[in-house]
Amino acid sequence: MREVFEFRIEAEAARLLFRPDEGRIEAGARVVAIAASDPRFARVGALAPGALRGWTVRRTFTDAERAAAEIFHLEIRRRFGPSGGACGTAYDAARACPLCGAGRRQIGTLVLRHVPDAPIAQTFAGEIVVSAALAERLVAGRFTGFEMKPVARRAPDYRGPLRLESVPSGRRLLDRARALGIAPHSYEFMLWSQIGERCDLARAAWEEASRERPTIEDSRFRQIVPTSRPVEVHASTRFGVSPFDLDEEGRHRCDRGHALGLRALSPIAIERDSHDGSDLVATRRFAGWPEPTPLILLSPRLADALRTTAGKGCTTVPGADVHPAHSTGASV
Ligand SMILES: [Zn+2]
Repeated sequence: MREVFEFRIEAEAARLLFRPDEGRIEAGARVVAIAASDPRFARVGALAPGALRGWTVRRTFTDAERAAAEIFHLEIRRRFGPSGGACGTAYDAARACPLCGAGRRQIGTLVLRHVPDAPIAQTFAGEIVVSAALAERLVAGRFTGFEMKPVARRAPDYRGPLRLESVPSGRRLLDRARALGIAPHSYEFMLWSQIGERCDLARAAWEEASRERPTIEDSRFRQIVPTSRPVEVHASTRFGVSPFDLDEEGRHRCDRGHALGLRALSPIAIERDSHDGSDLVATRRFAGWPEPTPLILLSPRLADALRTTAGKGCTTVPGADVHPAHSTGASV
């Protein structure tokens, strides 16, 4: 494996470490790619706060390394919002962690406002959507460890007419009017309902009706829902904010142990004993912040199918399927 870190460093600060002909300038930052073995690597981490504007890591593997890999980490390039929860997808949050939201269960069809035109994409809350063409390929390949569910979209704009009887706030408004002897839907009712807290009720009724506007199944997409046994992330996998910030104080970790950190700093390793053999598995513990999501790992066969079908929509990075007895890393 060849590992190269790409840093975006504020141009003035970069002059202390890099020659003017190294890397490229983009929006006032010098973009340079160096290996961790480069003597300047640690000095990048010691730059003044704010000088390091961003970083990514690129790992390249030889054909032999890819062929030997038993598990691949799926990195979906296209992330989008608003997520299902914000578009009216039903979730049961009764047992969700109050700190990180882990354990929330989707109980209804995934409803989205907008789905990117990509073979595979993921909402910021972790919901994975694939195109119908990729879904067909996954069905034909008889891959295991997940279900494909319909995706629905909310009808675009709500323009009424508003039926007050159909929503809770509307019914409350009608009850109050009746108690005062005001005939619902009369001219008097119309004037009365536009004053003070009644106006708030009327507005709430409108919002409720607009949330409840019908959804339309979108046959161009399918949701991928993991059904395999969740796998354990091996303790050798390192998480943090950047190679220079391992998040010692746990800003992106959940105190109850659900969220492992902002992002993985090393290739992902999972515990072999926890892997039920499915082609697609999700980790029991999550990464990311403020909406931690499980990491998704693939069998070589499924990784191969995604590489050929989803093209640049995703990256499949060899990980490790490690026997816990061989554990060498620190506990996470
Ligand atoms: Zn939590």
